[in-house]
Amino acid sequence: MNKVTLKDKTFRTSIPYERIMTAIDQVAAKINADFRGCTDVPVLLCVLNGSIMFTAELMKRLEFNCQIVSTKLTSYEGTNTTGKVKQAMGMTADITGRRVIVIEDIVDSGNTIVELKRILEEKGASESRICTMLLKPDAYKKDVKLDYVAMEIPNDFIVGFGLDYDELGRNFKDIYILDE
Ligand code: 5GP
Ligand code: MG
Repeated sequence: MNKVTLKDKTFRTSIPYERIMTAIDQVAAKINADFRGCTDVPVLLCVLNGSIMFTAELMKRLEFNCQIVSTKLTSYEGTNTTGKVKQAMGMTADITGRRVIVIEDIVDSGNTIVELKRILEEKGASESRICTMLLKPDAYKKDVKLDYVAMEIPNDFIVGFGLDYDELGRNFKDIYILDE
């Protein structure tokens, strides 16, 4: 599939599945290097819904005992951020005293991860790191350290591999860019 249409918008292939897999291999290797042999059980915090595919692919490659916890945050409407981050669903388990690796689909303005860091501190995580599949460096203006970044992309709207346009397109195995 070279082009796809979702509602009123057309998208074209931007990052094929094979390239996504290579990037996830590389980021998983870095996380393994940092956590392999650890004696605690770090939490992988899947930020629903966008991170669902990335979390699944990443966790297959991790070689230490880890626990999946999910939460849901929302900020996007259509193809734009509203700037206001809402926690639409709390954490599915207590993370007090735990080391947490936040698994994000994409960091854009950074509002979401700033709010996540605040929530994790409030909930008493002993440490939190950020792992994101995608980063838009030109949009990111926050100071929060991005510990693990799989791929960097230009400041364009994308869908696929978990990412949506009004809840559509999450099932695509490749990543598509708005074709305008
Ligand atoms: P931020 O809070 O960093 O501005 O945005 C983070 C969230 O907005 C991401 O987790 C993702 O859900 C959504 N988002 C940001 N950029 C895009 C994009 O290009 N496409 C889609 N589908 N969602 C995006
Ligand atoms: Mg997200």
